[in-house]
Amino acid sequence: MTLLELDGVSVHYGRIQAVSELTLRVDEGEVVALIGANGAGKSTTMRAISGIRPLSAGRITFAGEDITKLRADLRVVRGISQVPEGRGVFPGMTVAENLDMGAYARKDRKNLQPDLDRVFDLFPRLAERRNQAGGTLSGGEQQMLAMGRALMAKPRLLLLDEPSMGLAPQFIQQIFRIVTEINKQGTTVLLVEQNAQQALSRAHRAYVLETGRITKTGTGTELLADSAIKEAYLGVA
Ligand code: ATP
Repeated sequence: MTLLELDGVSVHYGRIQAVSELTLRVDEGEVVALIGANGAGKSTTMRAISGIRPLSAGRITFAGEDITKLRADLRVVRGISQVPEGRGVFPGMTVAENLDMGAYARKDRKNLQPDLDRVFDLFPRLAERRNQAGGTLSGGEQQMLAMGRALMAKPRLLLLDEPSMGLAPQFIQQIFRIVTEINKQGTTVLLVEQNAQQALSRAHRAYVLETGRITKTGTGTELLADSAIKEAYLGVA
């Protein structure tokens, strides 16, 4: 079943067109990657989906409903949760308080314990540091906290913007393993990445974005084997 569909989506910043007539779909249960160089429009696409940035043209459908004009906070209620680039952890709040904030839009806030247990299971490091201020965590731990916080909203679709950015290699591996685990547990994932190798090897399907347009799409395996992709994004000729 199609969970998310973008149809002819364009986004502008003033006169600059960052995304041009973009069409893509994410099926329930998939991990889909959006790869592309700096400035290709990946983050802008994510912002359009989460509702932070308005569309100048096109339509976004989620679970069969048109959400093109729906407010960002109401998209969270519908089941779209974003981990923004740069993470946005609340530095003065403890790990536990940060996680609690993730559940703010839920109607069933009474019993969050099973969800907290699930997050602590995925990220044991967060359990150890639950009473520590968010701002004192390392970059990798803050990425984990941001992902854990997004999961506390119990999303149907998790949007991850550059989860590996700025992380040490051992954290990169770990974050991608957890993305696969989250997906196996039933959450659909749309992932934006500059680390094309990792993204393509984890994704069922992927789209390549160049200057605001989709130039290629296929399964992760197909794109990993594509010579033009290898040259442009995987650092092999
Ligand atoms: P990066 O990985 O560097 O974030 P990206 O693929 O996510 O790149 P976007 O951040 O979506 O790309 O940017 C797409 C285009 O829109 C770029 O040309 C960028 O300069 C422009 N842009 C992005 N944000 C703004 C903004 N707030 N105001 C004006 N132009 C912007």
